[in-house]
Amino acid sequence: MKKTIFLLPLLAFCGLFYCISAQDEMKPEDTEVWEPEPVKIDPGESAASPPSDAIILFNGQDMSAFNIPEGTEWVVGNGMVTISPSEEKRETPVVITTKQEFGDIQLHVEWRSPAEVRGEGQRRGNSGIFLQQRYEIQVLDNYNNRTYSNGQAASVYKQQIPLVNACRPPGEWQTYGIIYTAPRFTEAGELESPAYVTVMHNGVLVQNHTEILGPIKFIGYPEYEPHPLKQPLGLQDHGDAVSYRNIWVREL
Ligand code: MG
Repeated sequence: MKKTIFLLPLLAFCGLFYCISAQDEMKPEDTEVWEPEPVKIDPGESAASPPSDAIILFNGQDMSAFNIPEGTEWVVGNGMVTISPSEEKRETPVVITTKQEFGDIQLHVEWRSPAEVRGEGQRRGNSGIFLQQRYEIQVLDNYNNRTYSNGQAASVYKQQIPLVNACRPPGEWQTYGIIYTAPRFTEAGELESPAYVTVMHNGVLVQNHTEILGPIKFIGYPEYEPHPLKQPLGLQDHGDAVSYRNIWVREL
């Protein structure tokens, strides 16, 4: 009996140590999910102009609603903003953030991957919408480009697979309609309720009140860390010449 009492905590300790070291030894591929592959559909035509109570983040004129750090270039012209392509950012992406901070929101974003197809998998028209600057809704050219399902366009990156693949061809404008509920944390920093997201891709439901499992994690499994209710929105520069226009948000 005495032996068991001694052994149990030891086993628990070893188990914990094993879990931590297993996470340390993980590779990016370990959290890629390839099956099932979302069925490809045709999203049809659609357009959206901002409602009267929307906060306009980008109306085609200037990027003054965003903080743009050194070393990333967002070029405004012809009613859109386009990321300057960069080999460096293909290796080390950078996220620009809004000056205003948001909690629960409805977000409208229009994006376009470069008409000239270059690269494959995650290296083709990669960008991203960063909810609260840490939860990524993937932007990627997946019109004819297979990658891991939980990393394709409209996935919660490395977490949740979209219901279908509603991508338009590269060079065409696409919309994301996003309804986001921020996570809640107790004063002690414990997770009270996770974040949830609903996404319409080109008007098609692709994430239906989907639970977000934690901040984006390229290697290993996500884990929540407490943060204030309101946080900036972000857009990812992953080195590809992705364009954006007509970005607006409504606080809920
Ligand atoms: Mg991305």
